[in-house]
Order: sequence, then structure tokens, then C-alpha cells
Amino acid sequence: MKETFYQHFEKIYGTRWGDLFDALKTSERQVARLNRLSSAEPPLLEDATKSHPSLQDCFWIPPQAFFQPERTSEELLNVYVMDPASVIVARALEVQDGDRLLDMCAAPGGKSLILIEGIPTSGEIFANDLSPERRERLKKVIQQYVPRTIRDRVWVTGKDGVQFGLKEPDSFDRVLLDAPCSGERHVLENKKAMEEWSPRRGENLATRQYSLLSAALLAVKSGGRIVYSTCSINPDENDGVIHKLLKKKKDQVKLIPQETYQVGEKTEYGVAFLPDRCGFGPLYYAVIEKV
Ligand code: SAM
Repeated sequence: MKETFYQHFEKIYGTRWGDLFDALKTSERQVARLNRLSSAEPPLLEDATKSHPSLQDCFWIPPQAFFQPERTSEELLNVYVMDPASVIVARALEVQDGDRLLDMCAAPGGKSLILIEGIPTSGEIFANDLSPERRERLKKVIQQYVPRTIRDRVWVTGKDGVQFGLKEPDSFDRVLLDAPCSGERHVLENKKAMEEWSPRRGENLATRQYSLLSAALLAVKSGGRIVYSTCSINPDENDGVIHKLLKKKKDQVKLIPQETYQVGEKTEYGVAFLPDRCGFGPLYYAVIEKV
């Protein structure tokens, strides 16, 4: 492992970094989220609602347990296994039935499924992802979890998210931007990613994330909501991106403060879930309204 990675984050997190570093190398706690678009019964696991009110229909998977989704009578899968922070982030979009939604970077689709559950009778969603391979995975996830009648209102697209800004201005009620990011948990698991890591990478990603967020702002309708999220622990990719938006587009945006419910940590503009304190994540999110 390059020393620079360790030193870079030690400078940011100080004495906390040792614990955070160890936690990032350990598997995160996950939940089985009930597929509300199916007739599935809740699994016999501990309800996660006590940790955060947004975790309704989520159940803790015991550490090291082998857990697999099962088929329901409608040939759908009963639960989706995911990081609880991802559930909180997707639900922060507060989708309403009838909404026109954009999930700008959607694959493999855990958060898209939550958004789709928010439009059970009307509305539509564009689940977009630039990567053809990841889009195939996304399509499969939608087939496995979403009934055919609702699938007619789910469009899987393969654009560069930036294009939505100019091509579809003021078109969506809500936009989720779960942005491509440094993903330090992945870097620590992957020798090649560690070899390629440099502080420069975070800076370049922050520029790309800002372009995507500016496009999301153009694409959302006035009064509409954007949730911006990353799985990075790098503040430049999190609060840094929001800071730039608030500075450059201050007349167009309003930050919507979020509760942390003990499991999250307030940052300057959003909330971070860090695994040394809550056992899951990392995940950062901020909620913005277009005024
Ligand atoms: N939201 C997904 C979920 O919950 O399952 C995870 C998304 S992952 C953090 C980021 C995704 O962004 C990747 O699938 C990647 O292929 C996609 N991506 C990267 N650059 C993009 C771009 N310019 N436009 C659209 N998608 C992009």
C-alpha cells in the first residue's frame, strides 16, 4: 500500500483515521430490504427501524451470515441486500407517486428500486448509467424486483449524465445523483486501484461530480429536489462539491438540512455515515432544492 493514501487521510481525519482505516477494511453491516413491489413477507431478522426511521422494511443481516433473496409467488425476489445508508439516501429524495424521476448514475440499481417503489401507480423513472456492462446488471435487477406492469414506466438509458442538463432542462420532479467517486473501501480491497490512487484522482472526480450536479440542477424543475451522494470519505468529493454549487448558483439552490438520528454525522452541508462509528457506509449525502 502506498504511504500517500494513508497519510492523505490521516491529515484529514487526524487521530480518528486509524479506526476509520480499520473499519474500511472490514465488511459493512448490511440490511435485507423488503421488496414492497412483491407480496414478500418480512424475513425473520431484527427490524432496523430503531437505528433510523428511514429504515422501515429493512432487517439486519447478522455478521458473517449466508443470506440469499428468495423468489415470491410472482417470480420476483423478496429482498434486496444493501448498505442501510443507501436506503436512507434514496428515501431522502421523498419521491411522490406520479413524479417524473431521474436516477442519473443508477447501476446496479439498489437505490433505483427504492425510487420505483415511490411511484406505484403513476409517474416514470429514467434509470441512467453510462457503463454498458453495469446497465446490463441494472436491467437484470429491475426484471428481478419490479412487476411487469410497473416496468412499463421504467426507462433504462445510457447517456453521460451531463447531457440531461442541456437536453432535458426543467423536466424532472426529483433527481438522484449517486455520483461516481473515489470509493476508498474499494481502493483498499483492490491492489491495482491502490497502485493507481493519487490525491489528484479525488480532485479530478470532484470536477466531474460538479459537472454532473450542475446538470442535475438544470434538469430538475423549479421546486424540485436533488439528492447528491457519494461513497467517498474525501471531503472534496462531498461537501466540497456542494460548497461550489452553493457559491456558483446561490440564487438557484436551497440546502435542505437532514437529521442524523445518531447513526449519521453532520458535515457542513450534509450527512456522512462512516463505518468506524455506525458500522456501515461510507456514504455522504446532501439534499438540495431548486428554488
Ligand atoms: N446508484 C447506484 C446504486 O445505488 O446501485 C450506484 C452508482 S455508482 C456509485 C456510480 C455509477 O455512475 C456507476 O455505475 C458508473 O457507471 C456511473 N457513471 C460514471 N460516470 C457517469 C456519467 N458521466 N454519467 C452517467 N453515469 C455515470
